Amino acid sequence: MSEKKGVMNAVSITPTEVIEYLFCPRFIYFEQVLMIPEHQELRYKVLMGREVHERKVKVNREYVRKKIGCVDKEISVYLSSLKHKIRGVVDEVLSFSDGTMAPLEYKFAEYRPYIFKTHRSQLTLEALLIQENYEKPVKKGFLVYVRSKNLLREVVFKPSDFDNATRIIEEILRIVQNGYYPKKTGSRAKCIDCCYKNICV
Ligand code: SF4
Repeated sequence: MSEKKGVMNAVSITPTEVIEYLFCPRFIYFEQVLMIPEHQELRYKVLMGREVHERKVKVNREYVRKKIGCVDKEISVYLSSLKHKIRGVVDEVLSFSDGTMAPLEYKFAEYRPYIFKTHRSQLTLEALLIQENYEKPVKKGFLVYVRSKNLLREVVFKPSDFDNATRIIEEILRIVQNGYYPKKTGSRAKCIDCCYKNICV
């Protein structure tokens, strides 16, 4: 999922902002409230799963589609939600014969035996977008790990995933709209290379 990077719409959260929030909530504050631009070369690599790389990777989408068993799919679909205050481009929107739908995301990453919180949150946001725009149930999503020979991983959504996604959106809006100064990240190791470490007190 990607989006046009730029000025944040007051009522619309993008996946990048969610990923930044999960890395450290203060990123959002410094970047969006104080308007201090980040220096990307100094940032932690987890934020750098830059989708631009993914776009350059050729993936056999037909193979992936057959493996999943979907009956239809749309590629690079821009969706927005006034209700949830989010927007973004879903790599693939899949339809299944049982009437359900699912998002699929390509990750320029190697497979790990667990799902990154950022990846799960991103998929969950996409599920909310699909549910609202297509009015179909979304029970699962898919991740394709490009650097592990396009390994496919299914993610079954739990109610807590939707609760967490809603909470994250509310907290980002609180920072951006109300100027709320959030707590530091719980992982101080992230501060070592952070471009904001000299002003973050
Ligand atoms: S210095 Fe640490 S707490 Fe402050 S913005 Fe950077 S990562 Fe977050």
